[in-house]
Amino acid sequence: MNDQRLSAIVETALLKKPSATLPKSLYGLYQSESDKPRRRIARQGIWLSFVMYLLFSITDAILIPDVARYSITARVLVGLIILPFFEYQYHSNQSSNALDLTCAVGLVVAYLAWLFTSLPTDYTVNFSYYMFYGCIFMMGANLFFSFQFQLSVISSTAILASVLTALYIFPGSATYRLTLATFYLSCFAFTTYVNWKLNKERFSVFLNAMKARIRQTEAVQRGEALLKLSRTDALTGVANRRAVDEKLRDFWDDWQMLGMSFSAMLVDVDFFKKFNDFYGHQEGDHCLRLVADALSETINKHHGFIGRYGGEEFIILAPITTEDEVAELAEGIRLAVEDLRIAHEQRRDGTSFVTVSVGAALVRPRNDGKLERIIHEADRALYTAKASGRNCSRVFDPNDPFTSDESENVAALLRMATREKLVSLVYQPIQHIASGETEAVEALMRLRMLDGTLVLPSQFIPVAERTGAILDLGLWAIRTVCQDLLMDGHVSLVSVNVSPIQLKAPGFAASVAAILSETGVSGSKLAFEITEGLDMEMHSDVLRCIADLKRLGIRIWLDDFGTGFAGLSWLRLIDFDTVKIDRSFLHDCDTTRGKAMLRDIVGLVRNRGHSVLIEGVETDEHVALVRELEIDKVQGFHVGRPVAAKQFQSAYAVNPHLHGYRKSA
Ligand code: C2E
Ligand code: MG
Ligand code: MG
Repeated sequence: MNDQRLSAIVETALLKKPSATLPKSLYGLYQSESDKPRRRIARQGIWLSFVMYLLFSITDAILIPDVARYSITARVLVGLIILPFFEYQYHSNQSSNALDLTCAVGLVVAYLAWLFTSLPTDYTVNFSYYMFYGCIFMMGANLFFSFQFQLSVISSTAILASVLTALYIFPGSATYRLTLATFYLSCFAFTTYVNWKLNKERFSVFLNAMKARIRQTEAVQRGEALLKLSRTDALTGVANRRAVDEKLRDFWDDWQMLGMSFSAMLVDVDFFKKFNDFYGHQEGDHCLRLVADALSETINKHHGFIGRYGGEEFIILAPITTEDEVAELAEGIRLAVEDLRIAHEQRRDGTSFVTVSVGAALVRPRNDGKLERIIHEADRALYTAKASGRNCSRVFDPNDPFTSDESENVAALLRMATREKLVSLVYQPIQHIASGETEAVEALMRLRMLDGTLVLPSQFIPVAERTGAILDLGLWAIRTVCQDLLMDGHVSLVSVNVSPIQLKAPGFAASVAAILSETGVSGSKLAFEITEGLDMEMHSDVLRCIADLKRLGIRIWLDDFGTGFAGLSWLRLIDFDTVKIDRSFLHDCDTTRGKAMLRDIVGLVRNRGHSVLIEGVETDEHVALVRELEIDKVQGFHVGRPVAAKQFQSAYAVNPHLHGYRKSA
């Protein structure tokens, strides 16, 4: 019976609606609830009453000495039979009903034994008084024990019948008989009535206790439901951020105090924004629910915990001890989502279903021992997973420069880079192949540590993108280019590398416009190189930003073409002024296959109407090939290495009318 139904039945029983017939199950419950105390009461009662019963042997000896030896023997015999039998029942765990029956039988038998062994006494006067004492047995049946009503009535009726029979035999006067009979009858009536009241009272005490208990259970359940609600993510049903934080604290405490190792994993649904935009929010929600279910199922086997950490990001905490296990579970999670095969036709990386990227970290002994650290490390591993093309899992590796503590140092360095002048720009010429003139220069960023050691762009640019430092650094680069080379008209065109993160940032085009008006430089002197890399999702914000930049006269170039996933679709979406073909294609040209590949790529780009630039021109053979393929522009060590602004300006000053810079530094 559920609590709600039970509660209704208890209410009805308490209101005592006469029409309401209470289900047997409620009485069954009452029986089972009262069984234990009734067993205890029966045991105490039977022992106490038999002690009293035996003590009455004294009054037997005083009042009816002639039959006392029979009555006392009867008392002892009854005790010797009933008590061991009762104890046997009690210890073999028989029900309170069975024990009560024994007590009732014992009571009646004890009464009969006393009555009929004493009845032949010659001390009739004494016995006529003594008979009134028999009423104690009736009181015992109705009041002393906690018999159920029927049993009390049966046993006290038996006592009443016995006394009436004895009266018939006993040689008393009619007055005496009438007095004793009425005394017994009224005693029977009163004690039976009190017994009935008592039984009713006991039942209503039970009902009230029941009601209180149900109320309490309901309150506890309501509290638990509320607590669960406040800790559950409404959409997916997994834990929400708040619960995640608490759980993380628990895992952390167990690790700190008991050395129980655990792993934190961040799971990000790849290209989810695109999914949402195309399939609609309802489908998006459905997709998140399916992913959450798949993750929960996988993680349950590992006694892990799952929560929703952000829009399309989940977190998993699991008790794990080795990195191999972490890698295995992270991969299992990735596969679980891949296996769902949820269609996602809008992604442009060759996959057409929903996948996740997983970044995992395992707790390890460290000096600073901060809880946030493990999340931070999982986040960095996730970043690496995304940078590796998504739909993959990565475990944080403290020795990997991209995810390691070293990148923390770089992040710290970047925060003070412009202030401490740790960052600078070098310029590399871009030559127009037909005229031999330097048509443009590319600005490349350089970062130095405080001790002067150079940090490679491949190390600091990803960190700057991850931390957002690229936003300020990017604007600083544009401003510096304008001031160093463009304000004084040193060169006609400078290309600046711009990260997709900058294009996505609100107000980027406006900030560029402000720099142009502040320095008085025309937008047509700038080209922005965009690499299809890390975050290749072509947001509408990015397209809008590109349109705004074009309106400022800025040219948009596609950098490192062929290295990413989205190159072709980007070519379709954006009207690039120039496409820079990645140097790897040129460097592969020592094989016929490689050469054919480059020829095809050049053809493709040219046919789309873009100007073609090839990077990494290092040798005369490269130059010859470039001419053969009729590529428009070249860049590489053969034309000129990247040099600082001052060197660039002075070299330019030596040969200004060349309208370019030819000498490699
Ligand atoms: P990128 O834009 O493709 O830059 C060309 C890279 O090729 C430069 O490396 C350059 O020094 C190198 N290079 C030029 N000619 C040759 C050659 O003939 N042979 C070889 N092997 N390499 C050559 P660098 O300066 O290390 O820059 C690496 C990447 O860092 C850049 O690739 C660009 O993606 C990124 N980067 C550099 N500066 C910036 C910046 O200001 N902002 C952003 N967002 N990214 C930047
Ligand atoms: Mg570039
Ligand atoms: Mg490039």
